[in-house]
Amino acid sequence: MSFSKVADKIGSYRNEIIELERSLVAIPALSPDYDALPEHTGEVRKVEFLKKYLKKHGIENLEEINAPDSRVPEGYRPNLIARIKGQSNERTVWVMAHTDVVPPGDMSKWNSDPWELKVDGDVLYARGVEDNHQGLVAGVMAARAFVETGTVPPYDLAILFVADEECGSDYGIQYVLKNGNPFKPEDIIIIPDGGSPDGSEIEVAEKSIAWAKFTLEGKQCHASMPDHGINAMRAGANLIVKMDKMLHEEFADRDPVFNPPESTFEPTKKNSNVGAVNIIPGDDVFYFDCRILPKYNLEKIISRMTDVAGEIEREFNVKCTLSFDQKEEAAPPTSEDAPVVGLLKSAVKEVYGIEGKPVGIGGGTVAAYLRREGLPCVVWSKMEETMHAPNENANVNNILGDAKVIAHLALSR
Ligand SMILES: [Zn+2]
Repeated sequence: MSFSKVADKIGSYRNEIIELERSLVAIPALSPDYDALPEHTGEVRKVEFLKKYLKKHGIENLEEINAPDSRVPEGYRPNLIARIKGQSNERTVWVMAHTDVVPPGDMSKWNSDPWELKVDGDVLYARGVEDNHQGLVAGVMAARAFVETGTVPPYDLAILFVADEECGSDYGIQYVLKNGNPFKPEDIIIIPDGGSPDGSEIEVAEKSIAWAKFTLEGKQCHASMPDHGINAMRAGANLIVKMDKMLHEEFADRDPVFNPPESTFEPTKKNSNVGAVNIIPGDDVFYFDCRILPKYNLEKIISRMTDVAGEIEREFNVKCTLSFDQKEEAAPPTSEDAPVVGLLKSAVKEVYGIEGKPVGIGGGTVAAYLRREGLPCVVWSKMEETMHAPNENANVNNILGDAKVIAHLALSR
């Protein structure tokens, strides 16, 4: 009964969604880590706007947890909790969304202004419309529908707006967890910041991440006299082939929860070396992006990488240094039997008519910070996955549907 009342209300919010998206994309909120223009570091202005918006729509229980950061004009990065009181405060249903966005990237690839909403039928275009306004707006619309239908959910419903998600979360969820952590282990936590086009994928686990940097040092010389130097690029090329083979052979197990089901070890970035064809490069620097199934111990893999690097050092008479731009052991997965998974499956079934399935991904979501604190949570949304791309877009119908899923969760007992 109350679900259809709340869901019908949400169904009437089409224009409200478009107008809220329009206001949000017009406030560029980039991390100062991007060397952004001061007028583009707008997390605080965005949250000030949201506070006014929420109050105007009867959502008045607001709590701020601000992280000091002298690099932005206001001197802090904003985190905000908006709460609707339930019949009981034994647990809270949380929606966590981030206010920051990534830069537009190559402007010539955009068909419209990234900081101005373009509406084409059901599809909205601008930087941030999907990542993470889709989840943010869905949470806000669900909360509004409770207020505007006078429905009191069985438990509290809270939206946590966090800063700094795109650049490491030091001033966002990590700060919130260290400064008055508002979560309880029995809470239902959903992070609508990732998903799949049909809405079936419920992310419960991540792989470990290692961004390995290999620095090879030989000796530069003229290419006509290779004996006078040591070619670091030849050593590097051999290292890539040998490393690739070892990693794939020795760490080959599969786990069907993950997509892809195996660990991935990909040579990716390559620094430029010499400026002319006739120079033997004395240095060679390149990277592997590794996403490793949680069953493997990261240090064990790194020790095998070091062995292979040592073999190349001896074979080619170079020095090889292995370092890591990022090294993150996987957080303990959220159990497939955790209440949040079951409740979300029922909600997805009710709203979208499909079966949700727990999945593992390649890593790098903020869910890991919560899981390490013993807080089960899932990353879920029905989305096209255009985040970070030019012409980022989101479908209004997905935002409407996701808001209904959130309302369903909030009404679950
Ligand atoms: Zn995001």
